[in-house]
Amino acid sequence: MSYCQNYDFEINTIVKFLREIKAKKVLLQIPEGLQLCAPDIIRSVKSILEDIEIVLSQNPSFGSCLVDDWGAQELGAEAIVHIGHVEYRYYKPKLPTLFIRGAYQGIDRDNIIELLLQVCKQHSAKAPICVGTTAQHMVEIQRFIKEVKDCEILYKGVALGCAPINPNECSTVVIIAGGRFHCIAQALYNIASRGFVNTLCIDPYTGSLWNPEKDVRKVLNVRLWKVREVFEAHKWLIIDGFYGQHRPHLIANLIEKLRRLGKEYLVTKALRISRDLLDNIGAENFDAIVIAACPHIALDLADYRKPVITIGEAIMALDQDMSRYIYPW
Ligand code: SF4
Repeated sequence: MSYCQNYDFEINTIVKFLREIKAKKVLLQIPEGLQLCAPDIIRSVKSILEDIEIVLSQNPSFGSCLVDDWGAQELGAEAIVHIGHVEYRYYKPKLPTLFIRGAYQGIDRDNIIELLLQVCKQHSAKAPICVGTTAQHMVEIQRFIKEVKDCEILYKGVALGCAPINPNECSTVVIIAGGRFHCIAQALYNIASRGFVNTLCIDPYTGSLWNPEKDVRKVLNVRLWKVREVFEAHKWLIIDGFYGQHRPHLIANLIEKLRRLGKEYLVTKALRISRDLLDNIGAENFDAIVIAACPHIALDLADYRKPVITIGEAIMALDQDMSRYIYPW
C-alpha cells in the first residue's frame, strides 16, 4: 500500500459537493505532510469532473484555523476543499468549504483496543476515562471504544492544541494522536484547569502507549521560567495570525493591560510565524514576544534567544501571578 493509500480522501464526497455547488474552480488545502498526495487527489477528481480547475494552496494548513479564504477569493475559486481537519470552532470560512478528515486507514484496531484495556487495568477511580483524538481517527476511535467493556470510557471529541478536551469529570484523559504536541497540550491544559496531569497518550502510528508526565513537567518548568523572565518586560511584540488564528478579543485584552502598566507594544500579523520572521523584525528590540496565533508556535520556539510566550502566559506575566498556569489563554 502506498503512503497516500493509507488515507481516505473521500473522492466521491468531494465530487458530490463540487457538483452540488456547480463549482468551476476550487482551492484544495491539505496539511504539509499529506501534500504529496495532492496530485493523486486532483487526478481522481478530474477523472470524474473533467472541466473543473483545482488549485492547491501551499499556504500553511496546520489546522482548520487556517482555511485559506483569501487565497481562494483571489483565485476566483467558488469553494474550498480542506483536507485533514474538521471545522474549527472559532472560524467560519467565508466561501463554501468542504472538510474531509482524511481518515487514516492503517489504524490497528486490535492494538488500540489492547492499549485501552491496559489503561482500564490501571484504572481504579470511579470517574470515567475520557478519550480525545484527531480528525483522522475520530470515527474509528469511537467505534473501538464501544468494544471495550472492562471500564467506562467516554469519547470526548477532537482534541486541538488550542482547544483540548474538557477534563472535568474524567479520571484520566487519553489522547490518541500521532506526534507529541496534542498530548502535551492536553496535559498542560489539565494542569491549567485541574492542577494535575492525568493524561496518557496513544500514538496510533507507532502503536505505543506513553505517559507524558515527566515531559510535561519539564515543559512546564520552561514555560514558568519564561513567564518569570518577562515580569519586568517593557517592550512587547504581539504577533497575530490570519483566519481562525486572528484573535482580536484576546489581543485587545492584552493591550488594555499593557497600556495600564505603561508598557510599549507593537502588534504584527503573519500567516506563517518562524524564527526568520522574528529575526527580521529584530527580536532583540523586544523584551517579550507573544504569539497570539497558535500556542504550538510559542512552545516550538522555547529555545529562541528571546522569550516567546502564549497569550495565557502573557496574562500571567502582566498580572505577575504565578499561582495558576494559564493555557492556552
Ligand atoms: S493548535 Fe494551532 S494549528 Fe491547531 S487548531 Fe489550534 S491554532 Fe490551529
